[in-house]
Amino acid sequence: MKRRDFLKLAAAASVAGCAGSAAPSRARVVVIGGGFGGATAAKYIRLWDPSIDVVLIERESQFTSCPISNLVLGGFSTMQEISRGYDGLRRHGVQVVRDEAVAVDAAKKTVRLARGGEIGYERLIVSPGIDFTFNEIQGYEAAMQSGRVLHAWKAGPQTVALRSQLEQMRDGGVYILSIPTAPYRCPPGPYERASMVAAYFKKAKPRSKVLVLDANPDVTSKGALFKAAWKDLYAGTLEYRGNAKAVGIDGSTVKLEVEDVKGDVLNVVPPHRAGNIAQQAGLITTNNRWCDVDWRTMESKKVPGIHVLGDATLSAPGMPKSGSMANNHAKIAAAAVIEQLNGRAPQPVKIINTCYSFVSEKEAIRVSSVHEWDATQGTLIGVKGSGGVSAARSEPEATYAWNWARTIWADSLA
Ligand SMILES: Cc1cc2nc3c(=O)[nH]c(=O)nc-3n(C[C@H](O)[C@H](O)[C@H](O)COP(=O)(O)OP(=O)(O)OC[C@H]3O[C@@H](n4cnc5c(N)ncnc54)[C@H](O)[C@@H]3O)c2cc1C
Repeated sequence: MKRRDFLKLAAAASVAGCAGSAAPSRARVVVIGGGFGGATAAKYIRLWDPSIDVVLIERESQFTSCPISNLVLGGFSTMQEISRGYDGLRRHGVQVVRDEAVAVDAAKKTVRLARGGEIGYERLIVSPGIDFTFNEIQGYEAAMQSGRVLHAWKAGPQTVALRSQLEQMRDGGVYILSIPTAPYRCPPGPYERASMVAAYFKKAKPRSKVLVLDANPDVTSKGALFKAAWKDLYAGTLEYRGNAKAVGIDGSTVKLEVEDVKGDVLNVVPPHRAGNIAQQAGLITTNNRWCDVDWRTMESKKVPGIHVLGDATLSAPGMPKSGSMANNHAKIAAAAVIEQLNGRAPQPVKIINTCYSFVSEKEAIRVSSVHEWDATQGTLIGVKGSGGVSAARSEPEATYAWNWARTIWADSLA
C-alpha cells in the first residue's frame, strides 16, 4: 500500500473510530457524494455554522465536472480544465474521507464504509448523483465491458475513452448518440454533445456524420435554438431522429424498437435512476428510481433525518436535473440542517437554475428558471414570468457559460 493511501485509510478509520465509540461532542453532519450537491452542502454548513463537524465521503480522488465535458469531447477543452481537488473543502474544515459509502443504518444513524468502519451522524445528506438501469438495453453491459459502447454521462475515464474513439474513427464514419427517455441528467446535455462532436467533425473529419437517436419525441430543451444551430452550422453532418428508443446493442448495431442502425462509435446513454446508495438506504419513493423530498429542507419523505440532493431527487415540476440545481438544493439543505440542529424551524428558500449549452466552439445558448415554495401545492414551482431562453446563439453567451462554470466550481469546491 502506498504511504498516501495508508494515510487516507488511517484518516477514515479515525473518523469511523470516533463514531463507533461515544457520541460526538459536537453535532456531526455526514455527506455522501462530493459532486455539485454534496460538496456545496459540506462547504456551506461549515461556512454558515462552524460549530458543526462535517464529514464528506467521496469515492473519487477528485471532482470531474460534467458541465464543459462535452467540450472535451469536441477537443475544445481538457480533462485538467474540468477537474478540481478537494483541498478547498478541507480548508473550510470539512473532513474529506476517500471511500465508498456502502450502507446506511437510519435507526442507528451510521454510514458503513467499503474499506471498513462506520461513521455516526446526527443528520445525513445523500447526493450520489445517478446510476443507470443498463438492463433496459439488451446487451449493454457486455458491450460496455468490451469497450464497444460508452455513455460518458459521468465525466471521467469514459469521457477520455469516447474522445479517443472519436479521434480514431475513420473520416466518413458515423457517431451515434442515443438519448434515454426523460427524466435524465441535464436535459440539453445530449444536444450540446451532438453539436460539439459535429463541430469537431466539420473541422477534422468532414465526411463523417453525427446521428442523434432520441427516445423522446422531440428535443427536450432549447429545441428551437438547437435546431436553428444545426441547420445553420451542421447541415449534412448532423441528423436528428425523435421517437428512436434504443432497446439493444449488438456489435456495431444499435437496435431500436422498429429498426436497426449501424455506427462506428456508439455513445448510448442508458436510462437513469438515483445513485445506488440511495436505493440501499431505502430512500427511493417513485417509479423505483427517484427520491421524493420536502422541498423546504430537502429531507427525505421516507426516511427522517436524511436529506437527498441533486439528480437523485424526484424533480419538482419544471425543475431539471442539473449541476446548477444540485448546488441550489445544497444551500436549502445546509440552511435547513443548521436550523434543525439549533432547534429552529427552517424557512423555505427561492432557488434559480441556469443552464448554458455550447452549439459551436465559440457560441452558446441559455435556459434559466426561478423556483419558489408553494404551500398549497406543497412543492417548489416555477415563478410566473421568470426565466426563459436566449434570444439567439451568441459569443457573449459562450463567455457567460465559461464564467458560470468557473464560478460554480469555485462556489461548490473552493
Ligand atoms: C454531458 C453533461 C453535461 C452537463 N452540463 C451541465 C451544465 O452545463 N449545467 C448544469 O447545471 N448541469 C449540467 N450537467 C448535469 C450535472 O452534471 C448534474 O446534474 C450534477 O452533477 C448533479 O449533481 P449531484 O451532486 O446530484 O451528482 P454528481 O455531481 O454526479 O455527484 C455525485 C458524487 O457522489 C459520489 N458518490 C456516489 N455514490 C457514492 C458512494 N456510495 N460513496 C461515495 N461517493 C459516492 C460520486 O463519485 C460523485 O462524485 C451535465 C451533465 C452531463 C452528463
